[in-house]
Amino acid sequence: MLKSKRTLKFDEIHLARQTPGRSLLLFMTDRCPVGCSHCSVDSRPNSPTISDFSQFEGIVKWICRQSYLTTVGITGGEPFVERRGLTLAVANIAHAGKDIVLYTSGIWAKAKLSQWIKEVLQQVNCVFLSTDSFHSKTVDDESFVKAAQAIAAEGTWLVIQVLAFPETVRKVRRLLEKAFGGEYSNYAELNLVQPLRIGRGVSVFDERPGKLGQDFGRCSLLASPVIRYDGVVSACCNEHVIMDRNEQKLRRLCHSNQDIEQSILDFKTDPLLQAFAHIGLGNITGLPGFTDLANQEFPNICSLCKSIRQRMSEMGDSGNDLVSILNFIALEDNYENNH
Ligand code: SF4
Ligand code: SF4
Repeated sequence: MLKSKRTLKFDEIHLARQTPGRSLLLFMTDRCPVGCSHCSVDSRPNSPTISDFSQFEGIVKWICRQSYLTTVGITGGEPFVERRGLTLAVANIAHAGKDIVLYTSGIWAKAKLSQWIKEVLQQVNCVFLSTDSFHSKTVDDESFVKAAQAIAAEGTWLVIQVLAFPETVRKVRRLLEKAFGGEYSNYAELNLVQPLRIGRGVSVFDERPGKLGQDFGRCSLLASPVIRYDGVVSACCNEHVIMDRNEQKLRRLCHSNQDIEQSILDFKTDPLLQAFAHIGLGNITGLPGFTDLANQEFPNICSLCKSIRQRMSEMGDSGNDLVSILNFIALEDNYENNH
């Protein structure tokens, strides 16, 4: 079924990403030529990319068959460096009637716009275009404006993803006025993001003040898994998890679509991950064996998550008992939320 094009804005995407089973992220490639010094996934011009297209095509076909899934994000790296993979994924997923959200730097707008790029932009429902002082060293202002105009020209909604630094935000607003005039909100909205001390970002951004373990809430990112081009499936979109082979609890290398299906089901039913999603990480620090984490400071929820997972694996059988109790509480909580 070929869908008719519809506008997809940030709030609707956010809702899909918070609803278990409604969305997933397809990590198209590690490769990116932009070279931002703060890149959280450490993408480089020579990073790995799709080498087995029949495996990748199988992954895309599996995505298309998921009837409950409404929204597919395509990210990387820079998806546009992977022309064959991107055109294959976009054509099939759009044809399956799913909404597509594409994440890009807009580097492709430095050259004359190719027909295949226009066709990709036509078929997607929203583009997240990233910019800041790090991107703009390679994707200059003129190219950013050209990229924004090219996306809007295909009737595709734009979310400008920008670091929440006042001067950077002011500059983006000026560039959007240049692209669309004073009425740029008819074409685009801004999504302000905090700097991430992950990947190359570790050496660029200062540590921000953290929070006590007990003050962290639920992890909402477990509702939307990530499938990499090489068959690695992650329970969440934390960059460490996507990149780091040692994060075994949250990522699996899959060799078949059956493996992908099983991995996603395992993540969805894992007692500890269920507890992260429904009980909240702060509440877990109130349980025996974890109380020292309650008053410890953590820079973000993912670092507390790592500490809890490590502690759980050190606890052996008593950790398993605790997990069973957490599972019961999480199921009760899930039941109450749904009735
Ligand atoms: S454009 Fe994105 S993926 Fe590429 S280097 Fe910059 S932050 Fe990394
Ligand atoms: S808190 Fe844990 S499960 Fe949630 S996004 Fe971070 S690493 Fe993933």
